[in-house]
Amino acid sequence: MFLSVKGLSKSFGELDVLKTINITIDEGNIITIIGPSGSGKTTLLRCLNALEIPDEGVLAFHDGFEIAFGNKLKKKKLMELSRKAGMVFQSYNLFPHKTALQNVTEGPLIVQNRNKNEVLELAESLLHKVGLADKMNLYPHQLSGGQQQRVGIARALAIEPELMLFDEPTSALDPELVGDVLKVIKDLAKEGWTMVIVTHELKFAEQVSDSIIFMDQGQIIEQGPPSQVLKHPKHERTSQFIQRVV
Ligand code: ADP
Repeated sequence: MFLSVKGLSKSFGELDVLKTINITIDEGNIITIIGPSGSGKTTLLRCLNALEIPDEGVLAFHDGFEIAFGNKLKKKKLMELSRKAGMVFQSYNLFPHKTALQNVTEGPLIVQNRNKNEVLELAESLLHKVGLADKMNLYPHQLSGGQQQRVGIARALAIEPELMLFDEPTSALDPELVGDVLKVIKDLAKEGWTMVIVTHELKFAEQVSDSIIFMDQGQIIEQGPPSQVLKHPKHERTSQFIQRVV
């Protein structure tokens, strides 16, 4: 067990967006989350990175780190949680006035206060890894959407997280640019990264996932290997969703 999510709940005012979510993620596994818009997928992902703070629930990591949400939550624990996971956003969220390289070095230099030369070397090797060795000194507006998203992936990797989270990483991209980004994610999968990916790309989910979670209205409706969830869903709501998306 790499991470266990126990009884995670989150409301925004009257709206119960996550209703007692339980998930177990094994080391090196890739979990994809699918489901209709508004079902709570992004909120769940953000809760794993302290970008949203759940009202209740516990996250327990393989190394003994545990965080229990509720009144007794300590800020220091949230900082620690945010460093465990690297997040890749749908809309890239790059700093527009920084180069690709500066976007990647920002986290480790400013937030983690690490050695400058070491961080530069790391950032260059990560940009190389995502196929952008020749674009390091360009600004986001000089890059295609797919290239910007690959900078986003390099930036998330730069904090040297234990877990990678992707929030619909290709949904803002023109169709012809989707492939390059998915390839980078597949390469990370081959390297053994543990990843949680929210996606509408069911074909991609089928190819990379160890397990697919189908969410609806803040609940996990079903979870299982792609062959089950996509081909032989147990629940009517899942099959309706899949038919609609394909
Ligand atoms: P999904 O990723 O499945 O589309 P989200 O997690 O983005 O779903 O959103 C789930 C629900 O929570 C939606 O109804 C959305 O409007 C609501 N929601 C998300 N973030 C906030 C917020 N910060 N404040 C209020 N409501 C929110």
